[in-house]
Amino acid sequence: MYFLYSNIKLVKGSNRSILYDLHNLKYDLIPNELYYLFKKSNTLFYLESENSEYIDFLNKNEYIFELEKEEEVLFPSLDLSWDYPAELTNIIVHLTVLNLHILSVLAESNVKAIGIIINELNETSYNKILSIVNSRISKETSIQAIEIFILNGKDGNVFVKKLKDIQFISKVHISKLINGTHENIYAQKRVILNPPNISLYTELQSHHSYFNRKLYIDEHGNIKNAPSASDIYGNIKKIKTYKNLKEIIELEDFRKYWFVKKHECDVCKDCEFRYMCIDNRLPIKRKENEFFHLEECDYNPYISKWVYQKGYKALTECGIQSNKQGFKINRKKLNTINKELWGDD
Ligand code: SF4
Repeated sequence: MYFLYSNIKLVKGSNRSILYDLHNLKYDLIPNELYYLFKKSNTLFYLESENSEYIDFLNKNEYIFELEKEEEVLFPSLDLSWDYPAELTNIIVHLTVLNLHILSVLAESNVKAIGIIINELNETSYNKILSIVNSRISKETSIQAIEIFILNGKDGNVFVKKLKDIQFISKVHISKLINGTHENIYAQKRVILNPPNISLYTELQSHHSYFNRKLYIDEHGNIKNAPSASDIYGNIKKIKTYKNLKEIIELEDFRKYWFVKKHECDVCKDCEFRYMCIDNRLPIKRKENEFFHLEECDYNPYISKWVYQKGYKALTECGIQSNKQGFKINRKKLNTINKELWGDD
């Protein structure tokens, strides 16, 4: 009998499934046929199949090991609970409202990563960043890296080069000018697939990987959960101590997106990438444990195609409706499209 190692997770999608390798940070797409061959025991998934092609593939990639059924008790399943030793894991703040006092208040949350948005990069804004980077707060607190988002800057700009040379700055993003408007690089729709890993996988079992423990402070000082969230919970200019900020972070309403799970969201619940994905679209509640999005993801799991791939179709073209009224799949239409794209298999 073959068992899946406990660090290997099977995730089923609409059309295909994935084996996530949480230790080696890799994954393999597999047909749903193989997903269904696996059976769930008390602790691990196991295979009784004699299909040598599958067994060879799974053995070669170190997904399975051979074991007598009675020995299974020696291999406990992985603990999937998630926690993090900080009240906030990610803060995004506009440079216009940031000063050393605010930075010290934010740092008390034990946050590791701070994103700073610069409207215009010039000598004044560059010097302000430099004073932040060189401050005692950046050096002596939990802050490990600063990411910079420049809304109005050019790659060749001397200050961009200088920022990129600062070791403490992990990344510098520069917004592109599209049709006369600067793209909103820190809030635009973004879906990022990360290599599967235990931290993200466990967090996604019970939390939203983008909104969870995030804090955003806009250019007027308004405190929000994230750039794509509209609710305001106070102004950072009025916050004197971390205790004041903590009172806001602990509000149930402030945390309302923190616990939205991907498997509760239309479409994502049928996507094989749902436990390796960071998605900044705002989930909208339809009813308890049911959410939808106003914008489509670039991946359509019902036809296994990304928007840039040949044969891609949007959800509505595939007969899928997701909105305030409900979630519906026109199976007949979807099957016809999948047959055209992938044949009878
Ligand atoms: S549909 Fe898109 S956003 Fe949803 S889990 Fe899949 S890749 Fe992520």
